Amino acid sequence: MLKLGITGGIGSGKTTVCRLFELLGIPVYYADDESKKLLEEDQLVKEQVIKTFSDSILNDLGTIDRKKLAAIVFNNKEQLEKLNAILHPAVGQHFENWLKKQNAVYILKEAAILFESGAYKQVDKVLTVVAPLELKIQRTMKRDGVSREVVEKRIELQMSDEEKIKRSDFVIINNEQELLIPQVLSLHKQLINK
Ligand code: ATP
Repeated sequence: MLKLGITGGIGSGKTTVCRLFELLGIPVYYADDESKKLLEEDQLVKEQVIKTFSDSILNDLGTIDRKKLAAIVFNNKEQLEKLNAILHPAVGQHFENWLKKQNAVYILKEAAILFESGAYKQVDKVLTVVAPLELKIQRTMKRDGVSREVVEKRIELQMSDEEKIKRSDFVIINNEQELLIPQVLSLHKQLINK
């Protein structure tokens, strides 16, 4: 079973593209969502995070307040690396367990920081979704209700599209001019005929 990693900058449309693959019956592992779940539900992860960032990141109910955590890590690369050092191995293990339960010609693993996290080593091929910078900013501001500054800061912390493209096997352009569905279908056909 081929493992295809899918990445792209914030607001590039990774999830949108993944939904199209899901419509074709392809299982998708959403690493970013799973890591949020692990942060909330995995006792060991929770303990490590509290130990690293202190219990000031907890809310009144004693669960991790992701907004508080985001405010720390999205402004500081070193803090982000500390959080990732806890989350990445946990997600990696969770993905391996998920993989054992799948039965398909190929699967997708979606991760915003597939290269940065080292998760690309767990997949066979990589697909990058790209979109113009301004479109990524506008989409994210609208979807998350955040300011331009917040989005720009997050983009600064991510690897550039140029670098991602260089390291990818496939690229999908989501600029709202090229149609997405034909691009997805073409890649799907290529992958199932391998
Ligand atoms: P993130 O890394 O922030 O999770 P993402 O790469 O997964 O982002 P999406 O969530 O798929 O991006 O897309 C961001 C927003 O832009 C969503 O609200 C989505 O509906 C919208 N969007 C994505 N692609 C298109 C498109 N081709 N046409 C219109 N809207 C789009």
